[in-house]
Amino acid sequence: MLRRLPLPIAVALLVASCRSAVPTSTRVLWIGAHPDDEIFAAPLLYDLCVRQRASCTILALTLGERGACADPRGCGDLVKRRSSELLQSGAALHASIQQWTLPDGAEFDPRDVLRRWSEGDCQHLLGRMRRVIDRATIVLTFDAAHGTSLHPDHRAVAMLVTSAAAAMQDPPPIYGIANRAEVSGGGTAIDFAATPPIPRGSLVSDRGSWSGVVSVAQVYRSQFSDQAIARLRHTPADARRIVAAPVTLPPTVDWCALP
Ligand SMILES: [Zn+2]
Repeated sequence: MLRRLPLPIAVALLVASCRSAVPTSTRVLWIGAHPDDEIFAAPLLYDLCVRQRASCTILALTLGERGACADPRGCGDLVKRRSSELLQSGAALHASIQQWTLPDGAEFDPRDVLRRWSEGDCQHLLGRMRRVIDRATIVLTFDAAHGTSLHPDHRAVAMLVTSAAAAMQDPPPIYGIANRAEVSGGGTAIDFAATPPIPRGSLVSDRGSWSGVVSVAQVYRSQFSDQAIARLRHTPADARRIVAAPVTLPPTVDWCALP
């Protein structure tokens, strides 16, 4: 019941102004695929976790082992490096960290990603996700249709989260990042598109919270070159608001029935 009371208040305050405080009982969970995906939600996480002191958790479902290395000095063991950077990112955003070890994307279709992540037992994967979601009062993740950057893993995360929540009796509200971004240069440069239309009930970041994106990029030196960080610093003003739109849960979970 705890989750039901503070949330509408929190949402109203966030939509009106991200400078207003959310109740300290608010438990925010960001769920991404890779260590550094939280960069796409960083301004919102900055608002909620740093400014408003909500209790926050960042969950990365993979170790990011297929990522490129953008550090000219080399990355050494990329998994160790990215996991260490994830911890630093959590510190910067005042969030605790959870990391799973699902395989980093080698598939082109999000349903194939989910099939691979399930290892033949999609109900087990859904149950695992439900147990994590159940502890949150606000869940932020990607949009299943575009995953912000069209990465199949990002879309798969959103499908997994919404499928898990759909089977819960009292799921917390799920929000999907509505912003689009182009990722290029071997996955290390991000160009955010202009802020999309804002659906009713969305969470919207404060204009002043864009620094959260730069802070996260500066932590992930294995992923973001000086040039990429400079580009993020110069993101046009009309692209600096991050919108998390309320997600309608799917009536059926079609991917779990796949052979
Ligand atoms: Zn990613």
